[in-house]
Amino acid sequence: MAEISKNLTTIAIDGPAVSGKSSVGKAVASSLGYKFLDTGLMYRAATWNTVQLDIDISDHNAVVSATRAMQIAITAVSEHENSIVVNGEDVTQHLHAVTVDASVSAISAINGVREIMVSQQRSLASNGCIVIVGRDIGTFVVPDAKLKIYLTATAQTRATRRYQDFCAAGLDVKFEEILQSMEQRDLADSSRENSPLRPADDAEVVDTDDMTMYQVVDRIIELFKVKV
Ligand code: C5P
Repeated sequence: MAEISKNLTTIAIDGPAVSGKSSVGKAVASSLGYKFLDTGLMYRAATWNTVQLDIDISDHNAVVSATRAMQIAITAVSEHENSIVVNGEDVTQHLHAVTVDASVSAISAINGVREIMVSQQRSLASNGCIVIVGRDIGTFVVPDAKLKIYLTATAQTRATRRYQDFCAAGLDVKFEEILQSMEQRDLADSSRENSPLRPADDAEVVDTDDMTMYQVVDRIIELFKVKV
């Protein structure tokens, strides 16, 4: 694995599904002129690749081999947007498909898959000046991050936000299905053995239930300035 970053200009943002990490993380990165890395997209890319290759996800050796063989490039880390290119193809638009959502937690619980991803994430974060979002950034990927944020909101609030986003995009979705799939992922992500979802001991927990995205961004920037 690559060396753990010693650079103290990293902001780690963790939290459960649909807690606003990506939108908030991009806005914080943009405001500070930092790079942005969404590690969830990397696990989603490994899942998309596994589904494409028709690999049985219970065959961990096959999943790890396919993930190791996968050429993944994360572009636009500097422009606060991430596009994911797998084996030369931009797959970003496929990464939130229902088939990916259904298997991503199982695939990210496989130790070999996490080793490959964490190694790449540490090397992308090693120059600092980056906002990196995920589940285990403050606890494991960059434990010496300058600022660690853990975003929370009730499952009801998070599912409502996702439901409204889908409706605004003209998609025909059921609230109950969104809520159920989100809760299943949260349970799997927080109960796995390797790097489970949890706040780092020194994380600032930000409960976003009654906050707008802009208020959350302002709060994080305020906290960052206090720490610099
Ligand atoms: O953040 P997002 O919801 O896109 O992440 C998709 C999935 O990837 C999560 O449910 C989790 O299983 C996995 N993940 C992870 N570690 C991270 C980021 C994401 O295990 N650092």
